[in-house]
Amino acid sequence: MAVKYELIKQCKQSGARLGRVHTPHGVIETPTFMPVGTQATVKTMSPEELKTMDAQIILSNTYHLFLRPGHETVRNAGGLHKFMNWDRPILTDSGGFQVFSLSEMRKITEEGVHFRSHLNGDKKFLSPEVAMEIQNALGSDIMMAFDECPPFPAEHEYVKKSLERTTRWAERCLQAHARPEDQGLFAIVQGGMYKDLRIQSANDLTSMDFPGYAIGGLSVGEPKHLMYDVLDYTVPILPANKPRYLMGVGSPDALIEGAIRGIDMFDCVLPTRIARNGTTMTSQGRLVIRNAKYAEDFSPLDPECSCYTCTNYSRAYIRHLIKADEIFGMRLTTYHNLHFLLQLMRDVRQAIMDDRLLDFRDSFFTSYGLFDNEKGF
Ligand SMILES: [Zn+2]
Repeated sequence: MAVKYELIKQCKQSGARLGRVHTPHGVIETPTFMPVGTQATVKTMSPEELKTMDAQIILSNTYHLFLRPGHETVRNAGGLHKFMNWDRPILTDSGGFQVFSLSEMRKITEEGVHFRSHLNGDKKFLSPEVAMEIQNALGSDIMMAFDECPPFPAEHEYVKKSLERTTRWAERCLQAHARPEDQGLFAIVQGGMYKDLRIQSANDLTSMDFPGYAIGGLSVGEPKHLMYDVLDYTVPILPANKPRYLMGVGSPDALIEGAIRGIDMFDCVLPTRIARNGTTMTSQGRLVIRNAKYAEDFSPLDPECSCYTCTNYSRAYIRHLIKADEIFGMRLTTYHNLHFLLQLMRDVRQAIMDDRLLDFRDSFFTSYGLFDNEKGF
């Protein structure tokens, strides 16, 4: 099998897992955060910079690469790793989430989804078989099964029909996957905020023996406590010898709470997206660099951070660049935010090793101001 999970230890205080995910392009220490490179690039960062902050794996996007430049072009380049000059692991999502959130005039049938490209209105079609063909061409280490992510809120009956189709689609993905020796295919547990449906989805998918399992359909606008409830009753059903991936979650509080609930992998556009607007995550909490009070503040963004940005540049300078819409300003805030989350995950792994993840959570939440911050970033 292309992807294998190795459990190193469980935190005696929290139950969180310390582990390793073995892939064809290297080993990932977990729990881990995966920076998102939607268009085969993590916006404003070079692959070399991502390596200096020790990003172990990045995520890229089937839907976007299918529409532009086209997966045949990426295949002809020798696969996504060669195309974008990244030799570490890559995870590609299935395109399901983007078809449902970005494209217009979509029509869902049992066969797949007809939709119009958000770029130029062209008629396109995605199905389990097409999503596998695209991801086989991209050559990612971890591929995702094609799923439907229902909106929140959604009726029980709709979510039930949707997840049952997602399960049938997962089976078709397994059949269509042409490179199981090179690429691991993960299934996605759906079921909205309904306990019976999450359990049904998890049971059906785990009976098919995928090399890993994701929990999708969360962080779609529901309150955080609902998301944690779903994790509390879904994660225990997932097999202990496979990696578990919580999709679309990247706020510091949710990364820690997810790890406590047994999640190994996370991804989110949050740190890079807010960085480009000048919002940064620091050890003292959220810092909006545009604020006037930083105009003559020549201290680093985060005095406790050792990243390239904080070692070399001041809040006043970064504020000036962001206000002037300079690309270098976005690069500096992006570098810091990604480094901050990757450092947070290193700290989480050390806390699991030392059996003190709950203590770590409490001290982190206190200094970040998270006990009175609903947003979590
Ligand atoms: Zn920094």
